Amino acid sequence: PKYQSVALVAGVTGIVGNSLAEILPLPDTPGGPWKVYGVARRARPEWNADHPIEYIQCDLSDPHQTHSELSQLTDVTHIFYVTWASKPTEAENCEANGNMFRNLLDAVIPNAPNLQHICLQTGRKHYVGSFEMLGKVEPHEPPFHEDLPRLNVPNFYYTLEDILFEEVKKEGLTWSVHRPSVIFGFSPYSLMNIVGSLCVYAAICKHVGKKLRFLGSRGVWNGYWDASDADLIAEHEIWAAVDPYAKNEAFNCSNGDVYKWKHLWRVLAEQFDMEFEDFDDDDEGELRPSMEEMMKDKGPVWDEIVRENGLVPTKLEEIGNWWFVDVMFGVESSVDSMNKSKEHGFVGFRNSRTSFVTWIDKMKSYRLVP
Ligand code: NDP
Repeated sequence: PKYQSVALVAGVTGIVGNSLAEILPLPDTPGGPWKVYGVARRARPEWNADHPIEYIQCDLSDPHQTHSELSQLTDVTHIFYVTWASKPTEAENCEANGNMFRNLLDAVIPNAPNLQHICLQTGRKHYVGSFEMLGKVEPHEPPFHEDLPRLNVPNFYYTLEDILFEEVKKEGLTWSVHRPSVIFGFSPYSLMNIVGSLCVYAAICKHVGKKLRFLGSRGVWNGYWDASDADLIAEHEIWAAVDPYAKNEAFNCSNGDVYKWKHLWRVLAEQFDMEFEDFDDDDEGELRPSMEEMMKDKGPVWDEIVRENGLVPTKLEEIGNWWFVDVMFGVESSVDSMNKSKEHGFVGFRNSRTSFVTWIDKMKSYRLVP
């Protein structure tokens, strides 16, 4: 056959989905040549359109639509599940995300006889609890490693894992779970894009003549953090999809270094050619507004920036994930261990500072920020 492997990427315009859509079709990608199907609800955006994939518009929360669209994909060999739904409570998250995943598996598994492997992307909240539970449940102590037990509270990541384990056992498939830290990547459609959000924040501060001010606590400014480059996550998922040593395991997936926000803040300011405020020179100290508060009336300013600079039209509330930045800037330190991946043969890494700059550049080159 023309293709050795056939991928189904659920969430193909997301922050990792877009990287998978770019990397899977490349001629030297392991397991290739790959044919790629990609699923998302919205029409295919311009910034995703160059990737040689078959785009399928489908709402995975709708079982009938999912069945009619995905049961036809009889040649799928690998599933990459990189999507999620955000609901007000974790109980609703468990229900909604469990349903989406089940709808997809119910449509594909009985109709794709060559299906081999399912990659499920979850994340760091596996170790610290859901957004709802942050600060209410005792998290594990970093550096997080894959053998830590689940926390005794509801978490849609656990729901997804349990559905995965049940299905693969029935069907004799292999699986892998990937747990990134905060993701540095590119997608104006992502629900949680910290680099994109910070670019928009910087552009707004610059436009109104303000220095770039950090809206987290001193502990966050000075604490150690890690990040996960979206291309690295895609490489990690492809590795697990094809390498026998990676089968049937859960893996952390981060860049392999640590950074401090105080250092990346300087980099962000440099990229937008503006001044930043050193945390220690700032009188307000700990009494900072949240990003959400700061940005709530900035829609018209953003519209003006978009117009004046001839940017791709976006709405501030869509391109800026302020609640997410606030959550990230509320955690003083968060790091994992990549030992297990290395012990199983994955030695990929990224320099987080370089990764940060790369994705800022991409935001600019696609004309999403000035
Ligand atoms: P994104 O929010 O970046 O992308 C989601 C993708 O799924 C988009 O393509 C979206 O397009 C599509 N999508 C959303 N809902 C549906 C639906 N009902 N039917 C079909 N497609 C849908 O996803 P992430 O990569 O951020 O999230 C994947 C996992 O990674 C989640 O479990 C998340 O918690 C985890 N994670 C994310 C981190 C981050 O920093 N982003 C950090 C650590 C973990 P459209 O809206 O057009 O449908």
